[in-house]
Amino acid sequence: MFEHLEKYAGDPIFRLGDEFHQDPRERKVNLTVGLYYDDAGRIPLLRSVQQAEARLGGELRPRPYLPIEGLPAYRSAVQELVFGAGSEAVRAGRVATIQSVGGTGALKVGADFLHAAYPDSHIWISDPGWDNHHAIFQGAGIATHTYAYYDSQGQSLRFERMLEDLRALPRHSFVLLHPCCHNPTGADLSREQWQALIPVLAAGELIPFMDMAYQGFGRGLDEDAGPVRAMADAGLTFLAANSFSKNLSFYAERCGGLSVVCGSADEAERVQGQLKAIVRRIYSNPPMHGGQVTALVMSDPELRALWEDEVAEMRARIAAVRRQAREQLEARLPGYDAGYLTEQQGMFSYTGLSAAQLHALRAEHGVYIIDSGRISVPGLNTRNIDYFTEAMAAVLRG
Ligand code: PMP
Repeated sequence: MFEHLEKYAGDPIFRLGDEFHQDPRERKVNLTVGLYYDDAGRIPLLRSVQQAEARLGGELRPRPYLPIEGLPAYRSAVQELVFGAGSEAVRAGRVATIQSVGGTGALKVGADFLHAAYPDSHIWISDPGWDNHHAIFQGAGIATHTYAYYDSQGQSLRFERMLEDLRALPRHSFVLLHPCCHNPTGADLSREQWQALIPVLAAGELIPFMDMAYQGFGRGLDEDAGPVRAMADAGLTFLAANSFSKNLSFYAERCGGLSVVCGSADEAERVQGQLKAIVRRIYSNPPMHGGQVTALVMSDPELRALWEDEVAEMRARIAAVRRQAREQLEARLPGYDAGYLTEQQGMFSYTGLSAAQLHALRAEHGVYIIDSGRISVPGLNTRNIDYFTEAMAAVLRG
């Protein structure tokens, strides 16, 4: 009955990760998947999470269904984290928010919502971008296109081209944007560039979808959300997805949020209802455990302060690794400009390495980097950074 179906080739990033695990070499280095590792190479179990779980674990609780839109305390925490404590839009009741199944679940619900609201609209995604954005929106019936974003040869943003591309879009087009820690390049718009972009989006009556999977990993929890808040302050109607996968090291718990900023409280109420209707027909209700832990960490002042320190620690480690990798590469390769490592921020860096160089790194040195040349920086640590920079220098020397 299903013999006609194509075989799924697997996700290229996860596939390369599997290859890494099968590689018997002891000195191998995994820079493929976007996971945060600590300096010991472990995925951290945050102390704030452990303490929240200990508190909640003290009571054995029945497991009824959560509300379709998620826990009220969780949804308020998402609004506060994404839009800020003093947000006018939140206070005015103009923001519809649901607890989502990770950031990916927020994108899926948002995609279904957009397609139902504007069935003829298409979405524009950065070039380069995250492949799964294309898959998610196409899966929801939305055609995907790209706008110019980054020149990987020149290691620079193509901001003027980006504006030009967006100015040419039909009204009510959807535009996928990363407020911070752009995946895959690590190159973000400056505050001034956001200020220039927002009026272009408004003038074109475009509908932005802000995907914030790495809040806190760039410059800070508040700073990273700055573009989302600036967009809300400018009065735009838009969607914002956020994820606790990275900043709470909570990958498998699938905790995220989807918020839609509307023009009025009445509109937000309609939107909230439509989001619920979409969730009801996809997975009905979100899971409880991760939701309760997240809500507790975000709302308890002591756990919140601890969590903010832990996010700061992860952010500082990434920045330190970036500086160290840059210094080592520039020392090993006089004349080589590794400035991109410290100019880019968040988990990822775009190395600009060619396919042949990436292949040589894998084959000769056991250094695994995905085909776009994107490295996941927290895969580096005190034990492997010298080895990595030496391998990269060897490949760059040719
Ligand atoms: N958006 C981007 C840009 C991402 O990089 C990721 C995670 N790789 C997500 C969304 C999805 O996050 P989650 O794991 O919470 O589904």
